[in-house]
Amino acid sequence: IKRIGVLTSGGDSPGMNAAIRSVVRTCAYHNIECVGIYRGYQGMIEGDFKEMGPRSVNNIVNKGGTILKSARSKDFMTPEGRQKAFSNIQKAGIDSLVVIGGDGSFTGAEVFNSEFNIPIMGIPGTIDNDIYGTSFTLGYDTALNTVVEVIDKIRDTASSHNRLFFVEVMGRDAGHIALNAGIGAGAEEILIPEEDLGLERLLDSLKKSKASGKSSSIVVIAEGDKIGKNVFELKDYVEANLPEYDVRVSVLGHMQRGGAPTCFDRVLASRLGVKAVESLIEGKSNFMVGILGDKITLTPIDQAIKGHSEIDRELLKVADIMST
Ligand code: ATP
Repeated sequence: IKRIGVLTSGGDSPGMNAAIRSVVRTCAYHNIECVGIYRGYQGMIEGDFKEMGPRSVNNIVNKGGTILKSARSKDFMTPEGRQKAFSNIQKAGIDSLVVIGGDGSFTGAEVFNSEFNIPIMGIPGTIDNDIYGTSFTLGYDTALNTVVEVIDKIRDTASSHNRLFFVEVMGRDAGHIALNAGIGAGAEEILIPEEDLGLERLLDSLKKSKASGKSSSIVVIAEGDKIGKNVFELKDYVEANLPEYDVRVSVLGHMQRGGAPTCFDRVLASRLGVKAVESLIEGKSNFMVGILGDKITLTPIDQAIKGHSEIDRELLKVADIMST
């Protein structure tokens, strides 16, 4: 291994910059050259590369987003696109890759590796925390803290006006953000894609909560909740069935993806970057680096793609008890 290319792909997440910085500096530490590839796989196809030295990543450890930019590339889904990408990295002398992204980006990496046999390491970067083989993905902790901070503010209004707020958070397929931020922010109910709690139960819980003396409540709803109604349809349903409630909706949206990474995400990014580069140096390929318990681990990338990251079911019970 002499020259590593690093790229960010798919949705951006806080901590990606800290991971780029870690990859670049670990390369410098081990006297390996490092090349930044802009705009994910699309930049590889277009030859959009830049030499990266330890000073090119100054002042980014604290920045959200990704200085290398990210993209979704349709061209990389075609053999012609990937051939072009390979020709470009060959020309640039890049002999291995670190891909920071989600499972789609890892699938692309695996396909690319199977065609051209180029060593690859994946670093999980997505706020959804939906990747098998790691307890935490980069950006997840930051997103949780952002969501909790915002719900705290919403709570001020909810309690001042005796209102019920439905707060929609990101998570089309995974309820990690909703469940953890919901508990952290003291939500009355949490609706997630993994479990259908049922509309009756929701109404029942809201009725009970009113009867027990609560005057305001917050319900956290993941985008892809299993109940199958979007947050506005849910508001209509609840208002139709419980006219005593004045329901307001807040869709948090993209703010959840931005912002300065938390210390946890920065430290995780630094550790994962070191492990990714050092594993390539040791001759390993086709792994995703992750964290399980407090240990940095390697998971075969095909397992990371195919496996399913489960929610912690204990948390459902905790959430339930907390809303008593
Ligand atoms: P996020 O979790 O934020 O959605 P992601 O990495 O899963 O991130 P995707 O858009 O699914 O994001 O994938 C990123 C890119 O990876 C795609 O735009 C495409 O270029 C590449 N990719 C995904 N699947 C494949 C595939 N089967 N073959 C080749 N390339 C792929």
